[in-house]
Order: sequence, then C-alpha cells, then structure tokens
Amino acid sequence: MLDLSTDQLQEKVRRSQRNAWSVLSSAPIGICITNPQGHFELVNPAFCAFFGYLQEELIGQHFIMLLSPESQSFACAQYTEFLGGTEMIEARQEWTVYCKNGEQRTVLTEAAKVEGDDDQQHKVTFVIDITERKKLEERLQEANSRLDHLASHDGLTGLMNRRAGLCQLEEELKRCRRYGGELSVVLFDLDSFKSINDTYGHATGDTALAEVTATIAHALRDTDLQVRLGGEEFLIIMPETGSDEAHIAAERLRAIIEERRFTPHQLAITLSAGVASTPATCAEQLIESGDQAMYLAKASGRNQVRLA
Ligand code: GH3
Ligand code: MG
Ligand code: MG
Repeated sequence: MLDLSTDQLQEKVRRSQRNAWSVLSSAPIGICITNPQGHFELVNPAFCAFFGYLQEELIGQHFIMLLSPESQSFACAQYTEFLGGTEMIEARQEWTVYCKNGEQRTVLTEAAKVEGDDDQQHKVTFVIDITERKKLEERLQEANSRLDHLASHDGLTGLMNRRAGLCQLEEELKRCRRYGGELSVVLFDLDSFKSINDTYGHATGDTALAEVTATIAHALRDTDLQVRLGGEEFLIIMPETGSDEAHIAAERLRAIIEERRFTPHQLAITLSAGVASTPATCAEQLIESGDQAMYLAKASGRNQVRLA
C-alpha cells in the first residue's frame, strides 16, 4: 500500500480534476451538469458551441431556457421525477431545442445522476444533435407517403386506382356482412369519348376527364368514393346506400354532367351508368353486375342510368 502525504494526495485530486475537465472539454458531444433545481452548474465547450452561448451566459440559468414553451412544464416534471427516482440512467429522449440565434434543432439526450458536494443528486446530461438525421427521416417519410399515394391513386384525376378501389370495396362489403346494412356501386363510362380525343386532341381529352371527375367528386357525399377503374370508366362506392337511393344519386350525377360544359372548348359530355347493390359475394361480382347494367344503358342509347 502506497503511503502518500497530504500534499501528494491533494496534488493527485487536483490532477484527477484537471483530467476530468480536459475530458469534458474535448468531448465531441454537449455535456452539462445541472443542480437539483435544474440550473446549469457546468457546461462543456461542445454544449456552448452547439447552443451558441458563452459559458457565462448559461451557468446559473435554468435548463428550460433551451426548450420550447410547450415542452417546459413536461421537462421540469420529468427532471424532478428522474432525480427523485431510483433509476440511475435516464432513458434516451428526443427534444426540440432552441439555440441562441433562434434556430430550432432536434437533440437526443441521455442522462445520469451524480452526487454533488452538497450530497444531493445532480444531473449530467449528454446531448447529441440529430437534426440532420431527423430531417432526413422526415423527408423519407414524406417520400414514402408520396409513393404510397402514387401506387394507389391515378395521376391524372387524383382518384383511387382500380386496385386500391377494389380493396376498398372489399372492405366495405366485409363491413356490410358483419354489421348488416346496404351498399351500392355506380359504374359509369363517358359516352363517345373517343370522338373528343379525335376532334380536340388527347390533351383536351385529359382535361375533360379531370374536370368531369372533379365535378362528380364535388357532387358526391363525403362518404362516397369515386375510383378510376381505367380509361374513361369509373366506379362510385356508396356505403349505407340501397339501390333506389343509389339510382337517384346516379341520375342526379348524370344530369349534372349533361348540364355542364367542359374544357375551354365548352364541350358537352354525357355518361352512361349502371347501379348494383348488395347482397353480393365479392367486389368483382358487384362490379360485374354494375357493368352489365351500364352496357344496357349504352345499348339503350347512352346518357342514361340503368339498375342491375
Ligand atoms: P362509348 O360511348 O361506347 O363508351 O364510346 P367511347 O368512345 O367512349 O368508347 P371507347 O372505349 O371506344 O373509347 C374510350 C376512349 O377513351 C378511347 C381512349 O382513347 C379514351 N381514353 C381512355 N383513357 C384516356 C385518358 O386517360 N385520356 C384521354 N385523353 N383519353 C382517354
Ligand atoms: Mg366511353
Ligand atoms: Mg370505356
């Protein structure tokens, strides 16, 4: 056992303190120590550099100065709970913080309890800047939801595409079977649409398609869903709707489209529609019935609605 004099011991303590401070000073992440009341007692250079404050601007201040007003009371409650609790290490947490220049950033914090000279628990917090990672995550999420939307929607009209529409119809049918109730579909196809393309060009045809579907979307109930099955053929799913009610609704839509004029060429457009209602074994069967009724409408001279 080494026998050290008091002087030697004091020198060892001083050296150990210098070492501790040089570790804190050179640490590449922000570190702070806060007292039981939440005031800064120590902040390392990385912490100051990240938040844009001088050390003397932070020491003695409460840590909530770095948080958004909405998260301050939650942060204080968490602080008291952590220092009073038995856990020595705090779980990782994500915070939105504000730098001196007002810039908002996202940080990940992890903390531990240390006993101070006053025999009380103090908190040492390690702060990692994850702002860029967070932004990247958000951009990825946005890109994913855009991809999801692209995969299930039609680019020209913004309506759900055939695949997604059939899934939706299948879901609605399941709901009907489980809870009872009715459901109807309206299938409609624009009349002699080829002649619009042939006369005014494909771009005008596209505009007409988008305008017709927007007109119909505007006239539908919030619970109804319009789907582009393909080309100039569409499906409307009408939950909680019996065949008579769906017939009336389809007739109203037919009349609205007949009345209006589309594209800068003021084109008159009409549609033929078939209505089919539950019971049905599956989405395909319901659509098939609606399709047959629609072709009856076509065969009977177009611009009309037929019930399956
Ligand atoms: P009918 O009354 O029997 O339905 O006659 P129609 O001319 O509408 O029927 P047909 O199926 O022969 O033609 C459909 C036309 O719709 C042909 C196709 O070029 C056009 N069409 C389908 N999808 C689009 C599209 O996205 N944009 C444009 N501009 N035209 C489309
Ligand atoms: Mg057509
Ligand atoms: Mg067609």
